Amino acid sequence: MKGRKLLMIPGPIEFDPAVMEVMGAATTSHVAPEFIEIFGQALERMRQVWLASDGQPFAVAGSGTLAMDMAVANLIEPGDRALVINTGFFSDRMASILERYGAEVDHVRAPLGDRPSIEEVEAALRRANYKVMTITHVDTSTGVLADLESWAKLSCQWETLTIVDGVCSLAAEELRQQDWCVDVALTASQKAVGVPPGLALLVAGPRALEAFRRRRRPVANYYVDWNSWLPVMEAYEARQRAYFATPATNLVAALNVSLGQILAEGMEARFERHCRMSRAVKAAVSALGLDQVPARDDIAAHTLTAPCYPEGVDSGLLGHVKAAGVILAGGLHPDIKTEYFRIGHMGVTNFGDILATIGALEQGLMAAGYDFEPGAGLAAAQAFLLD
Ligand SMILES: *Cc1c(COP(=O)(O)O)cnc(C)c1O
Repeated sequence: MKGRKLLMIPGPIEFDPAVMEVMGAATTSHVAPEFIEIFGQALERMRQVWLASDGQPFAVAGSGTLAMDMAVANLIEPGDRALVINTGFFSDRMASILERYGAEVDHVRAPLGDRPSIEEVEAALRRANYKVMTITHVDTSTGVLADLESWAKLSCQWETLTIVDGVCSLAAEELRQQDWCVDVALTASQKAVGVPPGLALLVAGPRALEAFRRRRRPVANYYVDWNSWLPVMEAYEARQRAYFATPATNLVAALNVSLGQILAEGMEARFERHCRMSRAVKAAVSALGLDQVPARDDIAAHTLTAPCYPEGVDSGLLGHVKAAGVILAGGLHPDIKTEYFRIGHMGVTNFGDILATIGALEQGLMAAGYDFEPGAGLAAAQAFLLD
């Protein structure tokens, strides 16, 4: 599409034309047989994408923050203890939500750009009897990837429920909800799931549902209460009509299309493709002489890259890159907001988009007066993509 810019931010991302077509189709009744079939299928597909055959999917109108709210509201009662493994902005948000529902929150922190070690997480779990531990799989503010498998498996030994904020990871980073002992994995439609903003998506495992059923007090939030949504999700999957609050019908239909595409690619192939795109972008950024926020390569996320502005360049760079056809995101973490920017590379993003992005970044750096060898970033990225 001439004149259209490539949207390479960590959500919303670029969406597939087949997904957008469904968004624009005539809206049906939420209890029309065609829609019941679509919603039922979307829920079944969520279970496959989450790799949680024993999980209960929920899809409601809202954003990722609502999915966080839903997880916490249904599992936390006042006075419960919660451990937040804090890797940045969205871990802080999770802590605020936990506190809003009356949890006593402790944090395990690491210096900005780093993540706690498994020993530090285990030591923290030893300190108190936590009902819930929360992990931000990819903290979008730092580009740091959690050691999710190791941390989540610990929570099984400690009988602590693990809530994973997978908003910037699910359907892109390796995440095996059932095998890794993750009790709730949540996301939003507009990131790697590949659907315009508007759906809060969550899969709850058996231990989470059991803890929910043992609650003593009612859920302190009307809209997200699983007592209201569980019968609705079960009904749609059984291809029966149900109503609590009107589902976002066009978004649900778009979700079904996108999940179908994700499963057609295959989860293993998808994880692998995101690793490769990430390596290409990170190699390009390094070849251009830019540092990154994550302290080490092996803890960097594969869904986004967080490069630091080089000496003498500031956020004006993003305007130059935009003029060259690609939209990138500025900094988000309050402590370093003006020192770095973010490149999202998830979902339908392909190798051509990666090269276009690095090309635009080089043009932007040139316009910003930065001294580098033109083409160095492109060559580094291409080397990984051709591999
Ligand atoms: C984007 C994001 C959120 C917030 O999602 P919204 O849809 O903006 O409410 C939460 N956590 C992470 C890790 C995110 O990347």
